[in-house]
Amino acid sequence: MPELPEVENVRATLAELVIGKEIDQVIIGVPKMIVGMPAQQFVGNMIGQKIEAVRRRGKFLLIDTTDGTLLSHLRMEGKYRLHNATDPVDKHTHVTFHFTDDTELRYLDVRKFGTMELVLKGQEELTKSIQKLGPEPLSPSFEKSTFATKLKKSGRAVKTVLLDQSLVAGIGNIYADEICFQAKVLPERPANTLRSAEITRLYESTKTIMAEAVALGGSTIRTYVNSQGKIGGYQDKLQVYGEKGNPCPVCGTPIVKIKLNGRGTHFCPKCQK
Ligand SMILES: [Zn+2]
Repeated sequence: MPELPEVENVRATLAELVIGKEIDQVIIGVPKMIVGMPAQQFVGNMIGQKIEAVRRRGKFLLIDTTDGTLLSHLRMEGKYRLHNATDPVDKHTHVTFHFTDDTELRYLDVRKFGTMELVLKGQEELTKSIQKLGPEPLSPSFEKSTFATKLKKSGRAVKTVLLDQSLVAGIGNIYADEICFQAKVLPERPANTLRSAEITRLYESTKTIMAEAVALGGSTIRTYVNSQGKIGGYQDKLQVYGEKGNPCPVCGTPIVKIKLNGRGTHFCPKCQK
């Protein structure tokens, strides 16, 4: 599943590809992907709109048009591709935005879990999806004191709290494992048992790892590539994710993989406490 760094990469490449284009037709193959209004109303509202900006909040892409903001969540495997209208259509294309220049932005999603929600321009903060998000980890609104208070109040596993988008937005399974490793904290530790120094390390690691992963275009794990077909560069930096049985880069102990609340979870049993 794309996490903050991957969605940020998609955002940047989409912005290069579609800003300034005007939509003259929309084809929806899977109406359940459109939330908040009937698919036909969505189509009607999008036709004639020009794309003005592509923003991101947490794992949501926010596509601003003349009058609206489209909240797009890629979930497991959603992808955008820009094509000429005459190009063959992949069978996993479920939403197509056709532009006046005869190119089209196609949304592909093998698992059909992605969602699109259209609101009035700039009104995304009024949606439940965005309201429940915590601060962006790379913005000044991500404050250590609030982060610490929320962790201390929770009896859930540290990793589970990191994955809760209300603590901090944009962290998913890969980066939660990496953050816990860098902070030397076991992902299954109840958050309310963390010492202050450990909370500080988790806070700093969240910022450092997210910043570096964004700078490298995210991690290409399995199917993720950006909208220009380029892969990310952070997968070579991953220390524990996907490294089950391989030596810990710090101490050489084999990396362990367990299931934590159903999620594959990787850690070093010696370095992390
Ligand atoms: Zn180790």
